[in-house]
Amino acid sequence: MSTLTVIDHPLVKHKLTILRDVATPFPTFRRVLRETTWLLAYETTRHLRVESGTVETPLEEMTAHSLPNPAPCLISILRAGNGLVDGLMDVMPEAAVGHLGLVRNPKTLLPEEYYCKLPSEIEKRQVILADPMLATGGSTIAAIDRLREKGVRNLVFLSLLAAPEGVEALQSAHPEVPIFTGALDRELNEKGYILPGLGDAGDRIYGTE
Ligand code: URA
Repeated sequence: MSTLTVIDHPLVKHKLTILRDVATPFPTFRRVLRETTWLLAYETTRHLRVESGTVETPLEEMTAHSLPNPAPCLISILRAGNGLVDGLMDVMPEAAVGHLGLVRNPKTLLPEEYYCKLPSEIEKRQVILADPMLATGGSTIAAIDRLREKGVRNLVFLSLLAAPEGVEALQSAHPEVPIFTGALDRELNEKGYILPGLGDAGDRIYGTE
């Protein structure tokens, strides 16, 4: 069974067109990325566990469901992951948030960690790991390796765009991890950018082009 879910929705397609457009200025890019993430969140959070309890409506008591304790955790792969985590926090303000900073070592070309701050009881939480661009898969695989070391068991990965090369690499390194994405693009170029893609996601979010 494929672990890849491409979230096929007319509004996601429409918003992706705005995000891909080179003429879209960064304030618009940031806003539309946030709106797109609300839509992606619907499918990405479908698996979340809820606990049964009771709630008193103005008329009577009823059985009702809530997110468990400890709450799910959103983890951003810095810095572009923050663009997705901002939108995920809007729809799930109860979530704890972790950050993982990885940089490619210019000599070994392997991703190395420069920052890691995770909420307590991470091993008990359902985790959504977020990075807008699943390109080579190198940083996603390194992030998941690190989270596994920290005891994370229940984990899904969300990206905005994915390249077939990155999906293949991630599926072979972590075949158990469900992958959600807004679109599966054609390929990577020689510099590791997704084609047709949208350029450097961090630069487009923060206006650092
Ligand atoms: N990271 C990006 O920001 N863009 C790509 O196309 C690939 C990796």
